[in-house]
Amino acid sequence: MINHSRFVTGAPSGIGLQLATTDVNAVIGGYLRDLAFAQSSQPKMFGYKRAAAAILALEEPFTDLVGPDGALPRISGIGPASTRVIREILDTGESPTVEHAIEQSDRRADIERRRQLRRHFLSRAEVRRVLSDPTFAGPSLEQYQGDLQMHSEWSDGRPTVQEIADACLQRGYQYAAVTDHSYGLTIAGGMSMPEAAEQRRAIDAVNAWGGARFKMLQGIEANIDTTGQLDLTDDEAATFDVVLAAPHSRLRRSEDQTGRMLAAIAHPAVRILAHPRGRITGSRAGVIADWDAVFALAAQRGVAIEIDGDPARQDIDHTLASRAFEAGCVIALDSDAHTTTQLSYAETALAHARLAGVPAERIVNCWPLDRLLAWLSNPSSEGRR
Ligand SMILES: [Zn+2]
Repeated sequence: MINHSRFVTGAPSGIGLQLATTDVNAVIGGYLRDLAFAQSSQPKMFGYKRAAAAILALEEPFTDLVGPDGALPRISGIGPASTRVIREILDTGESPTVEHAIEQSDRRADIERRRQLRRHFLSRAEVRRVLSDPTFAGPSLEQYQGDLQMHSEWSDGRPTVQEIADACLQRGYQYAAVTDHSYGLTIAGGMSMPEAAEQRRAIDAVNAWGGARFKMLQGIEANIDTTGQLDLTDDEAATFDVVLAAPHSRLRRSEDQTGRMLAAIAHPAVRILAHPRGRITGSRAGVIADWDAVFALAAQRGVAIEIDGDPARQDIDHTLASRAFEAGCVIALDSDAHTTTQLSYAETALAHARLAGVPAERIVNCWPLDRLLAWLSNPSSEGRR
C-alpha cells in the first residue's frame, strides 16, 4: 500500500518528505531509464525508455495522480513491470528492483555515468510547478513575447513557416525567429543559400499576412566548427535577421574548449549562443569550458546566452544561467522546436530562468519587438549592466 499522506502532507518521514519536495517524475523517469540500460534485450530497453519518456512528459507529478485507495493511474506506454518500479519509488524513494537489475547486468559503470548526466533536468510537471509558483521572481509565461530558435521544413523541422506563424499567434506571441540549420550541417538538412533566399520570400509572405499582429524573423542556426568559426561567410550571415551559433561536434571530449566558444562569441554576426554545451540528458555532457570566461565576453559584446528548452537539452540549466546573469549577460529562452507542438518547450526554458532568478528585463524574448530589433542591429547596446 502507498502511504499517500506522506507525499501530500509532507509528514516528517525522510524519504517521503524528500519526494514531496523533489521532482518526483524526474526520479521515476531516471530509475526507468536506468532499468532500460540494464536490459540485454532491445525491445525491453525501448519499452522502459518509452515508459520513462511518458512519465517525464506528464503534466502532473505522479504523487498527485495516485487514487485515495493507493491505486496508480493507467498511463499509456507504462506496463506492469514499470508500474512495480513506480510503486517501490512512491513507497520508499528508491527501487530495489532497478538496483537488482543493475547488479545482474554488467553495466553499472555506464549507468552511474548516465545518472550524472541527468543532473539539473526538469520533468514537464516540475516545469509547470515552477511556472505557477509566484515565489519565483523570474519571467512569467505572459511576459514571453516570442521564440528565437525553431526549425521548419527548410531544414530538419516539420512545419511550414505559415504553420509556425499560426501556432505562434495561438500562443500569443508578437514575433518569432525561424532558425533553420545552415548548409554546413548537412546531417540536419542544412539550408543552402539559394534555399535561404527562397525561404525569405515565404517569410515575406507570412509577414504581409501577419501585418502588425506578428513579425517573423529569418534566423539561421550556424554551426560552430572545431576552431570556433561558423559555416557561413560574413556576407552570407549578413542576409539573416538573427544569427545563432551552436556547437554540434566535439560534444563528448574531456578537453577544455573555452577558446572555441570565445571565438564563436567574438564573431561579429553572432547574437545568440544557442544550446551552449550541446549536452543531452543521460548521454553526453557537451562542451567543457570556462563558462565564466565565456559569459564575461558575451556580456561585454551583448551576445545572448540561450536556455534551450528542448526537454532532452535544457541547455544551459538554471545553475549556469544564474552565473550568466550575474556576469551581466542577456539571456534567450527558446524552444528549439521541430514541430509546432514543441513550441511549448519554451516553457522549460522559462522555468530554468525563474529558478535562476533572471528578471524579464534581461531576457531578450520578453522585450517588445522594437527593442529586440534595436539589440539585433547593435548588440553592445544591451551589453553588461
Ligand atoms: Zn542545434
